[in-house]
Amino acid sequence: MMTSGITKRWLLNILSVVALIIVAIVLCLSFMIRAYYYNSVEQSISVRCNELTKVFDEVDSDTTTDFLTTAQQYIEDFPDKKQLELQSLNSVGRVTLTSTGFLPDEKEEMPDFDEALKSPNGYAVCRSTLTSGEKVFAGTKIITSQDGTVLGAIRYVTSLSDINFTIIAYIVIFSLIGAIIIFAVLISGRFFVRSIVGPIKEMSQTARNIASGDFETTKITSKYDDEIGDLAESINYMAHELKQTEQLKNDFISRVSHELRTPLTAIKGWSETMLLTGTDIDQGTFKKGMTIILKESGRLTSIVEELLDISRIQSGRMKLMTEKIDLVAELDEAVYMLKERSIQERKHLMFDSPIEPFPPVMGDKNRLRQVFLNIIDNALKYTPEGGNVIVQILNKETNIEVLISDTGCGIAPEDLPKVKDKFYKANQNVGGSGIGLAVADEIVQMHGGTLDIESGIGVGTTVKISIPVYDESQSKEDKGEN
Ligand code: ADP
Repeated sequence: MMTSGITKRWLLNILSVVALIIVAIVLCLSFMIRAYYYNSVEQSISVRCNELTKVFDEVDSDTTTDFLTTAQQYIEDFPDKKQLELQSLNSVGRVTLTSTGFLPDEKEEMPDFDEALKSPNGYAVCRSTLTSGEKVFAGTKIITSQDGTVLGAIRYVTSLSDINFTIIAYIVIFSLIGAIIIFAVLISGRFFVRSIVGPIKEMSQTARNIASGDFETTKITSKYDDEIGDLAESINYMAHELKQTEQLKNDFISRVSHELRTPLTAIKGWSETMLLTGTDIDQGTFKKGMTIILKESGRLTSIVEELLDISRIQSGRMKLMTEKIDLVAELDEAVYMLKERSIQERKHLMFDSPIEPFPPVMGDKNRLRQVFLNIIDNALKYTPEGGNVIVQILNKETNIEVLISDTGCGIAPEDLPKVKDKFYKANQNVGGSGIGLAVADEIVQMHGGTLDIESGIGVGTTVKISIPVYDESQSKEDKGEN
């Protein structure tokens, strides 16, 4: 049974239209055939009637007797008696002679005779039903004398039974062809609709499985290399991506929990030590404990800040406090903040601050500093002891470029396109939540800039940040417009 929504819609929209068109065509053809046959009959009777004028003129029939004699002669000589019955009518329309030899029923109506009397050319045709029930076609030609007196009439009568039978046969053939076409459309349509409905049902089941978290068993195999195939591919791709995202999310949760636990353990441990020791604690240990508590709470704060940032980015709530700023100063500040750490970790963090002034950029200084800190922090994190982290800033007229290069472990080519994705970590051995680059990239993009990474395993990594220079003329134009 065809009950699905698409099948019903298809039946209503396509099949009903096709059926209507076919019915209309069959009706038109039937009417045309009927008109063709009836016209031919009328035509042949009309031709016969025309020849009558000549027949009766030649014998110069001017009296009823002449008319009767000529009519009798004409009827006797008439060649097509099998197809047409000839009747000779007197001036009041009574049949006096017929080619069949049988006089018709007196009650038989002859509307064509009355019509012909009224007609200027003395000719009329009609379709009527005999008292026997037989359908006939008749044509009457009035014969008049020279002075216009009606002498009588010749009437041609032909049965419509054969013609009607032929017409009905044609209608039946047309209807059969129409029904076959509708049936063929129905069958092919049914196959077509099934080929759509089947996969759609499968896909909707798969989508439900995916929604309930089952990414494993859901792989649609499509037989078609068309839009349905594309849809199946897209759903498979979606399931694959969702699976990866789910995996990333789970990894992220366990990583962040771990990241949060490490500083919390340190804070808890030192707080307990200090509490237990009480006032007996010596100044050196107290200072060390408090320093660690402070440092670890700072770490916790920055992790929480990163998490808040990613949530702000996702909900579109991240706002910039923009002003005209000097990017060199912000980069200087970021390098300064990490200099001490680089020395402790025995890595060379180098930055030659340019002497010449740089054009300002329109930006949020805290956010841009956060980006630099993040990228330099990564460079230090992924560079081993003795390695170099080189920071450069270049004036490219329309843009300011910041290059942060390191001689660290580098990123594998297959990871490179994904490291800017949130929660993605290429290197699982080093701590970190995997959202630093995603946040940095978003902030740079919000400034109208770009963040590109070039890297190779064992070669090192270069992160290029490009921020557009503040365009005074553009800003004036904007103000003018407002
Ligand atoms: P994480 O908190 O893990 O550092 P990021 O978003 O900052 O997260 O970086 C994503 C991943 O990109 C890292 O896990 C690391 O594998 C890779 N990565 C980023 N910067 C560097 C770098 N300078 N050298 C090598 N790998 C890097």
